Amino acid sequence: MTKPQSWDARAKEYSLYGFTDMPSVHDRGTVVVTHGEGPYIVDTNGRRYLDANSGLWNMVAGFDHKGLIEAAQAQYARFPGYHAFFGRMSDQTVMLSEKLVEVSPFASGKVFYTNSGSEANDTMVKMLWFLHAHEGNPQRRKILTRWNAYHGVTVVSASMTGKPYNEVFGLPLDGFIHLTCPHYWRHGEPGETEEKFVARLARELEETIEREGADTIAGFFAEPVMGAGGVIPPARGYFQAIQPILCRHGIPLISDEVICGFGRTGQTWGCETYDFIPDAIISSKNLTAGFFPMGAVILGPELAGRIGAAIEEIEEFPHGFTASGHPVGCAIALKAIDVVMNEGLADNVNRLAPRFEANLQRLAEKPNIGEYRGVGFMWALEAVRDKATKTPFDGKLSVSERIANSCTDLGLICRPLGQSVVLCPPFILTEPQMDEMFEKLEQALDKVFAELA
Ligand SMILES: *Cc1c(COP(=O)(O)O)cnc(C)c1O
Repeated sequence: MTKPQSWDARAKEYSLYGFTDMPSVHDRGTVVVTHGEGPYIVDTNGRRYLDANSGLWNMVAGFDHKGLIEAAQAQYARFPGYHAFFGRMSDQTVMLSEKLVEVSPFASGKVFYTNSGSEANDTMVKMLWFLHAHEGNPQRRKILTRWNAYHGVTVVSASMTGKPYNEVFGLPLDGFIHLTCPHYWRHGEPGETEEKFVARLARELEETIEREGADTIAGFFAEPVMGAGGVIPPARGYFQAIQPILCRHGIPLISDEVICGFGRTGQTWGCETYDFIPDAIISSKNLTAGFFPMGAVILGPELAGRIGAAIEEIEEFPHGFTASGHPVGCAIALKAIDVVMNEGLADNVNRLAPRFEANLQRLAEKPNIGEYRGVGFMWALEAVRDKATKTPFDGKLSVSERIANSCTDLGLICRPLGQSVVLCPPFILTEPQMDEMFEKLEQALDKVFAELA
């Protein structure tokens, strides 16, 4: 076998790319990354890029955090792998569950581990199906989510995801129902106040429950701030409007905190930032600061009690992954939680969030920026052809891809999503690094908007 020569050619020859715009890769090549330094990544050509997306939202402590590397090395030396089946689990797993319940918004609870956020959402759905069937409601299987939601890529979590791209797989499955995305700027009707918008979404939920039958619905899943949907904070009062409706119909509210959890919104959980207490939390990504693939379902007291009782009766819950509660992942997560919450990372998010917003506000004055939105260290700028009418650019112009590609040329990684660009840098970002991020972004915006004018 003769291998092709360049890293790009080798990548293209043997690797299948996911979530990648192939025309861009054919034009521009593959960025092959060898290592990172703080919030920067370095490629095989020695080029440095400020990664304003924290990898995929998850590398919140940067790419070379010493404490996390040491925690991983120490645990590899102590006990490099184990499972959590048959009544055995590692000491690290025990300690992480304690810690997760302690830092959760719940007075008590129980934790179940997976390898990813998708699997954690799948696990939660299986738990709800199991629970309702056990309680005599086997028909309670439908899942409510929202358009634009991102809950993952497994068959169930892709069905929960409210994105048209899943049509290529013949998804969603039946019984996954998507409600209106709570993005007031985009989906509010002309003349409709934010309050009325929220009331309309609450009515839609109520009508959907009535139409489908509350006794056919297993649960409602929501990200506090939609992440991969384009950083969409909920309209004001959204969760306060929908939670009583769900509660009245006995429908658990599951907060998918895979992105929002552990400081991204400025508080430990997105549900804290938006002032609601869900029935369960889904965590991943930030849980290990991206240093280990791991997800967790954190059940609040009520679901923990009911599911726990149901398991006692059938004697064995037939679910779990080989690497659920992996000791190295758990040791890293324990360290990551400590680093984010006690070593100043969450504080840094709160300290720099106003400066972040002030910069976005300034950029949003440009005629082709329709809106900036976000919270903490997760923000988006949305491009528009016409600011007054909020008319988007022609999709064929790939405006956000062009902006992101221009940023990459300047040594800044940011992500195109729809017609928005997303900024969600690591929590260790300094003021000069933030200035660098905005200088490069502004250069890219000016270049692309000038080309499109
Ligand atoms: C990334 C993400 C997931 C899926 O996590 P994976 O680890 O990629 O499976 C689920 N929910 C949300 C909100 C996410 O951002």
